[in-house]
Amino acid sequence: MTCLFCQIVKGEIPAQKIFEDEKTFAFLDIKPISTGHALVIPKAHLEHFDDMDAEDTHHVMDTVQKLAPKIMEAVGATAYNVGVNVRPDAGQAVMHTHVHIIPRSADDGLKSWPGMDVDNLEEINNKIEALL
Ligand code: AMP
Ligand code: ZN
Repeated sequence: MTCLFCQIVKGEIPAQKIFEDEKTFAFLDIKPISTGHALVIPKAHLEHFDDMDAEDTHHVMDTVQKLAPKIMEAVGATAYNVGVNVRPDAGQAVMHTHVHIIPRSADDGLKSWPGMDVDNLEEINNKIEALL
């Protein structure tokens, strides 16, 4: 099995590594949405965000929380988005889960997702709760 991000972790493919510890690895996105756009991944090959157990999730999100303010400061941004695309229909292109850190600034031209006007929140909530 060849996985691009596993190869980056192993140093087989070059990347701009920002940080590494026992469980996590962070590097700059090769096609950034904004300057400083970075990816944080578990070193273990796990395809989807929901494949991570509580410990993996803790380590990855801990690294995100540690790095994001430093990245923001380094690139002179004033804010950041944290996001995960989970499965191809949501835009996941690399099947080794990763958390995007996207530095933001006022008037940077990036648009947030639009909200919908709806009248079925309770029905949706009931469906979700029934699965928990
Ligand atoms: P996603 O669409 O959430 O799967 O995001 C995959 C991200 O990986 C994209 O933002 C790509 O620009 C980025 N990417 C793909 N190949 C590389 C690479 N070799 N080094 C760094 N980032 C990469
Ligand atoms: Zn992998």
